[in-house]
Amino acid sequence: MSSTANATKSATAAKTGAAKVRNVVLVLGDQLNHDSAVFDGFDVAQDRVLMMETHSESTHVWSHKARITLFLSAMRHFAAELQAKGMHVDYWALDAHTHSSLADVLGAVIVRDRPQAIIFAMAGDFRVQQQLQHCCERHHCLLQERADRHFYFNVVEFQAFAEGRKELRLEHFYRVARRQHHVLMEGKGAKAKPVGGVWNFDKENRGSFSAKGPGMVPAPLGFEADVITRDVVQLVNERFAKHPGSLEHFDWPVTRAQALAALDDFVEQRLCAFGEYQDAMWQNQPYLYHSRLAAALNTKLISPKEVCAAAEQSYRAGRAPLAAVEGFIRQILGWREFVRGLYWLRMPDYVDDNALQAHQDLPRFYWTAETDMSCMRDALKQTLDYGYAHHIQRLMVTGLFALLYGVVPKQVHEWYLAVYVDAVEWVELPNTIGMSQYADDGFMASKPYCASGKYIQRMSNYCSNCRYKPELSTGANACPFTTLYWDFLLRHVDKFANHPRAALQWRSLQHLSSEQRSAIQKQASEFRARIAATT
Ligand code: FAD
Ligand code: SF4
Repeated sequence: MSSTANATKSATAAKTGAAKVRNVVLVLGDQLNHDSAVFDGFDVAQDRVLMMETHSESTHVWSHKARITLFLSAMRHFAAELQAKGMHVDYWALDAHTHSSLADVLGAVIVRDRPQAIIFAMAGDFRVQQQLQHCCERHHCLLQERADRHFYFNVVEFQAFAEGRKELRLEHFYRVARRQHHVLMEGKGAKAKPVGGVWNFDKENRGSFSAKGPGMVPAPLGFEADVITRDVVQLVNERFAKHPGSLEHFDWPVTRAQALAALDDFVEQRLCAFGEYQDAMWQNQPYLYHSRLAAALNTKLISPKEVCAAAEQSYRAGRAPLAAVEGFIRQILGWREFVRGLYWLRMPDYVDDNALQAHQDLPRFYWTAETDMSCMRDALKQTLDYGYAHHIQRLMVTGLFALLYGVVPKQVHEWYLAVYVDAVEWVELPNTIGMSQYADDGFMASKPYCASGKYIQRMSNYCSNCRYKPELSTGANACPFTTLYWDFLLRHVDKFANHPRAALQWRSLQHLSSEQRSAIQKQASEFRARIAATT
């Protein structure tokens, strides 16, 4: 039976008040993990899995069509796999019910089935976690939370790491994580040392391509839409027609088998060069040597442990260099776990942080890619076409522009949460509010990630195809990044002139005469006025 047909059946059961159940096991769209603790002790005779597609989850931010499709298709495939194992799945397909939110559906299920308990694992989003808790309280139904086995660290372990530390920095956490989980380590116990003698090969992992470009990069494995995905594509194109983005190129893994194949393909074909070129960008090359695994990880189709183990195995078998493997593992065992810890430490206030008092609205071109800045146009068009941009495009192009221009961080956050197939709040929010926008006043990043157009020129070929000149900060051909960069330094000089990590960068203001400063500020405010007029 297709998942849609099953969902229709569930909606009918809701009306007739059919079978009684013992436990309802809740599986959210980012919890598609067959090894989840929620299935421990599952009794097919008495228990039911509940999966819900709801309108509000697809619209609470203005979600890209590919993001909606990825979640719905992966959920429907997962439901079918559970059914094939003999589990009863109460699947509420979007087109088979009229409830708006997760809490509305859950409330209806509690009233209908009167289960002893709702069993679930922590949600990936504070808002959803609250919704579920309040719903169960309202209906006097026990909500039983089980540990999330997907991550290396749970929230309490991260809190213990954070306890008493004046500042939280990735590098400290990463070393603890490598030791504790014995990843890329040599020796045992207290004598264990990082493989290669150093913890971090960051300096070797900042390469850019020569003028000839990246040459032939092995294309990542893509997956043709099957009947379930085609159904979802049709649904999304009809129901969410006005949402941003296109489904023309949709080829993301939506099952565990596909996610594992994508992992193998990455490790075999692209891991070797991942490190060296992880910061490089090139026009019309969306993926380069990146893994495209974030969506499969964040829906939990694959686990970070198996991804890191595959990368480490490749190094130990002599197939990939240590710098590449360490660089890749640092993103997953390091950054991914670190940002999750920060998210749960700082929510719910994190979302409203605005340490730099930014107050501009997000420019309209973030939703259309209609801009004459070549770097922004490429990163934004690619985002709309594929629901993907790699880390440096997010941090040092679209994120950098928002930082320098001064967009309200919450608006930046809502955009990032909407437009990427891998966007789930626990990972997106700290990356945006903390790393990219410095809105948390340095809680996550030791200094703002700010740079002029010259950084983009060094790391890509965007500037050679642009009407602006990255070395110019004033005049008709001045690069907006460069103008806004100097303006940013001037606007925040009081805050950073004596900052232990940022002062050096701010000292470069000494080279500007007062005439140059005034000209830059004038150009920046004219530029802002021009953009604001079209926003
Ligand atoms: P690769 O470059 O191949 O990296 C491998 C894996 O490492 C990724 O799949 C991801 O799981 C992990 N990773 C890499 N960098 C980070 C990071 N900074 N934080 C956490 N995990 C990381 N990542 C998301 O998964 N979801 C998001 O919603 C998201 N939003 C972001 C917003 C901003 C403003 C920025 C700067 C970064 C964001 N990231 C997010 C982190 C990173 O950009 C993406 O994980 C990465 O681009 C996904 O592509 P990939 O799978 O090809 O990653
Ligand atoms: Fe971007 Fe400036 Fe380079 Fe143009 S010149 S591509 S706006 S950095």
